[in-house]
Amino acid sequence: MSKNILLLLSSVVVLLLSACIPPEPADSGADSSTTQAPSERSPKSPADDGTGEQTESQATTDNEEFVMRSDAELKAELSPLQYKVTQRKGTEPPFRNEYFDNKREGVYRCICCGLPLFDSQAKYESGTGWPSFYQPVAGKNVATEEDRTLFSIRTEVKCERCDAHLGHVFDDGPAPTGMRYCINSAALKFAEREAEAAAPETPDATADPTAEP
Ligand SMILES: [Zn+2]
Repeated sequence: MSKNILLLLSSVVVLLLSACIPPEPADSGADSSTTQAPSERSPKSPADDGTGEQTESQATTDNEEFVMRSDAELKAELSPLQYKVTQRKGTEPPFRNEYFDNKREGVYRCICCGLPLFDSQAKYESGTGWPSFYQPVAGKNVATEEDRTLFSIRTEVKCERCDAHLGHVFDDGPAPTGMRYCINSAALKFAEREAEAAAPETPDATADPTAEP
């Protein structure tokens, strides 16, 4: 019986030795550290918190490069007339506004968010006293909505991006569309085409001399 026990013990010792020996001859420090490090990191990396936050933050930053300003911010930044027109669906007086007879070439952007809305190439003399266009720069940049104020049914024109009220659109315009976008100057910010094209160059030219001293 004692021999059997000895045999068992010896066999166990041999097994233990054989089990211990193979790993040891392999390059000692580097392998053990590299094998341990990934094993320690791997359970941490798939944490739900990290991945969830990353995907959410990436999605929001990609979709929301434009940040909608609050009513208080708009009221502070816009003139009283610009605020009344764009945020309260007001109407400026005809012929006494900035752009009704503006004949310069350029782009009219939303006064609230800067989205390009109308181009001077589609501007025409409507005789109404308001800036009039036969089409927007892109249909997707403006939204329309039925307006039942002033005892009539009109079609309101709004900025697609920030929902600012711009004016109204009627179907008595000239060719090629037959549409008349009657827009408040107070809802627009005009940028002359030469100024827009030269804008990226002038800051560089002026930046060098001013930056050095
Ligand atoms: Zn806008």
